[in-house]
Amino acid sequence: MSKKVPFVTKEQLEEIVKTYPTPFHIYDEKGIRENAKALKEAFSWNKGFKEFFAVKATPNPFLIDILRDYGCGCDCSSMTELMLSNAMGVEGKDIMFSSNETPAKEYQYAAKIGATINLDDITHIEYLEQAIGTLPETISLRYNPGGVFKISNSIMDNPGDAKYGFTTEQLFEGFRILQKKGVKHFGIHAFLASNTVTNDYYPTLAKQLFEVAVQIHKETGADIRFINLSGGIGIPYRPDQEGNDIRAIGEGVRKVYEEILTPAGMGDVAIYTELGRFMMGPYGHLVTTAIHQKHTHKEYIGCDACAVNLMRPAMYGAYHHITVMGKEDAPCDHQYDVVGSLCENNDKFAIDRMLPKIDIGDLLVIHDTGAHGFSMGYNYNGKLKSAELLLKEDGSVQLIRRAETPKDYFATFDCFDIYQKFDFEE
Ligand SMILES: *Cc1c(COP(=O)(O)O)cnc(C)c1O
Repeated sequence: MSKKVPFVTKEQLEEIVKTYPTPFHIYDEKGIRENAKALKEAFSWNKGFKEFFAVKATPNPFLIDILRDYGCGCDCSSMTELMLSNAMGVEGKDIMFSSNETPAKEYQYAAKIGATINLDDITHIEYLEQAIGTLPETISLRYNPGGVFKISNSIMDNPGDAKYGFTTEQLFEGFRILQKKGVKHFGIHAFLASNTVTNDYYPTLAKQLFEVAVQIHKETGADIRFINLSGGIGIPYRPDQEGNDIRAIGEGVRKVYEEILTPAGMGDVAIYTELGRFMMGPYGHLVTTAIHQKHTHKEYIGCDACAVNLMRPAMYGAYHHITVMGKEDAPCDHQYDVVGSLCENNDKFAIDRMLPKIDIGDLLVIHDTGAHGFSMGYNYNGKLKSAELLLKEDGSVQLIRRAETPKDYFATFDCFDIYQKFDFEE
């Protein structure tokens, strides 16, 4: 069993909590940079390679700015994500709009800022044309071959059950329609399995997409400029999991590229990715304090964070490793449910987890919260969103999002008289 070691020490955290009380998310600049560099190198064989960071995973401009140092663009799923990317000065061609069930005004905005639109359905061709009055020169189509996605004999995911994308028939038809309507350049996108912890996912997906691309190119002559492998490269949430090797993944994709695209005269197709989890997941911790202990039918540790800070355990039963700071070498001889304060019994970060004896006041690090962590947060029970901090390479700490205050929570009443009655002293 490999060991999961926090990227901050107990001493560092004890200093940090003097200024920023728990709970908060903290991110590791050094880890983010090293990983982004490794991804870039792994795909450096492809001239047009670009990672469009899935903004929904961690929509924080300070973190996205770090990724931009490695040539990353933004993959957006909504109006506010487009606005954020645009406000950060990300150029239109560096923004991918991979949305679904998209309102007309979001297409209009995406077109205005020059983002590449990735259509989720064949009926959206007409919808987009009506929304923006024309069609852009370049369009991407999201493909969903249906069935189950298998690697060797194991089922990775179930695209046939997913709401996304064009069927194979619709994809060919979509290309024909768009060519007739004057669209000049194309991309093909697919996201067929999530959080894959295997070096074979991207190469297997790439092979499938490359074969379809060659067939479409042969049948329609369409100018396919890029293939977007989207997200789905996972991270080892559990200590017994072996992480992905991005070099091996890049190499695996190169092999199928040279087998399929190059001989078809398509050796200039760019590879795009839209990774979220892989780019940020391991480089975030949720830090919380044990504030209660309860001995009833089970042993409970109550902490000052709850599911609004990290929803994955409540939503998917997801495993997040927990380190009790300062007790890294103590025996894990106590069985706990580690819980938050929501009036909702699924608000548990861990169930029946063997941990060292926890005392009130202990700092707990909940691992791998850097993607789909803070961003999935919500305000149930009137809980406020936490701060986000960045542990910089020089060891200093920067506040990159302040914690919400009651005033933020009540702000949407500011157009009503009752707002005047609130007293926001904290
Ligand atoms: C969520 C999402 C991603 C990122 O997925 P990860 O699992 O975080 O890599 C990429 N593209 C699209 C279209 C998505 O919806």
